[in-house]
Amino acid sequence: MLSREEALTLDRDDPLRAFRDEFEFPEANLNYLDGNSLGRLPKRGRAALERAVGDEWGRGLVRSWHDWIGLPQRIGDSLAPLIGASPGEVTLGDQTSINLFKLAWAGMRASGRTVVVGDDSNFPSDRYVLRAVANELGGEYREMQVDPIEGPTVADLERVLDDDVGVVGMSMVAFKSGALADAMAITERVRRAGALMLWDLSHAAGAVPVELNGCKADLAIGCTYKYLNGGPGSPAFLYVRKDLQTKLQQPIPGWFGHDAMFAFEGGYRPADDVRRFTVGTPPILSLRGAEAGIEVMAEAGMDRVRAKSIALTDAFIARADARLDGMGFRVATPRDAAHRGSHVSLAHREGFGLTQALIARGVVPDFRAPDSIRFGFTPLYTRFVDVWDAIEVLGEIYEKREHEGFGAPSDHAVT
Ligand SMILES: *Cc1c(COP(=O)(O)O)cnc(C)c1O
Repeated sequence: MLSREEALTLDRDDPLRAFRDEFEFPEANLNYLDGNSLGRLPKRGRAALERAVGDEWGRGLVRSWHDWIGLPQRIGDSLAPLIGASPGEVTLGDQTSINLFKLAWAGMRASGRTVVVGDDSNFPSDRYVLRAVANELGGEYREMQVDPIEGPTVADLERVLDDDVGVVGMSMVAFKSGALADAMAITERVRRAGALMLWDLSHAAGAVPVELNGCKADLAIGCTYKYLNGGPGSPAFLYVRKDLQTKLQQPIPGWFGHDAMFAFEGGYRPADDVRRFTVGTPPILSLRGAEAGIEVMAEAGMDRVRAKSIALTDAFIARADARLDGMGFRVATPRDAAHRGSHVSLAHREGFGLTQALIARGVVPDFRAPDSIRFGFTPLYTRFVDVWDAIEVLGEIYEKREHEGFGAPSDHAVT
């Protein structure tokens, strides 16, 4: 992509071009590159939410539960093909952090072992939760030191795996650097050690093709409000491989996980399927948003999404190399497309001010301390011309010193 004209040509020939019309663009000129944090609003999402409020809740009231009751599992079945899972293995509800706690705890209890393994490139919530699970069960949390750009590898695992490890929890795509882990090799190595592999797919679902069954992953969790465009705080998903489901028990026995919830029995008997990993009344309104986002993604198909994602991130890195040369930027994401997800981080000493200056100019990335400007490329609605323009604006900001005077990250509640 050597010119803006060429970017426009790539957009014209983009096989996913029509999907842009599935989303709302209330500010025509906003160059939104943060869909990895909060995806845009799909038109179908707005319609589904309006129906859920007006018809299902407003008119249907409690009668709507006949339809709502199985909703988390139905949406789970629609999501399953996008993450390489089978019907009956995925459900939605609670938050990513909570689902991580539930599954890590369940896995540790079933393993009869004492050590939980995590890594220091993972999202803070994951590190806190994995440590808490280990502490809770009187065990040990063992954290791998991994390359902050390249992310966890099998070689890192070799240093920490032994017969005491019950669960290994990692992100398939690293939240800061965007590194894509070798899920096949890592899962295989963890299982060979007799431990359970728990993947966090928050930055992977809807961004890269995931093959949970293909790599024999045991457990997984992830967000629906990032690349799946489910809306702010939309419910997280969880996956438990079919043959494991009746062997695991999660820590919170709620009535939605009961085998016969409307029998109102005094004692807890977990359902013999994925429902046993749910707890209480699901957030129906937010589920409707998640359902719409997942439906749009499923229509696009992960192969086309991945092809465009690679083209977008490749173009971004090439443009950054060419246009920002000598300005102190460093690509803090794997350069090999096979090893990265769908966002690219540019590290810069003045990264925070540069991020704020970009937002002031209508280009929206986000900032991850200490120095990463994170640009998310969501193939359903990001265009090649957006990539071109973002780099152009960033170069101009730097040249005109527009990024000075924005203060420090600690002055802001959200970065
Ligand atoms: C975004 C993200 C989360 C967020 O967790 P919530 O409980 O939804 O706030 C957790 N883990 C990872 C790896 C993430 O990228």
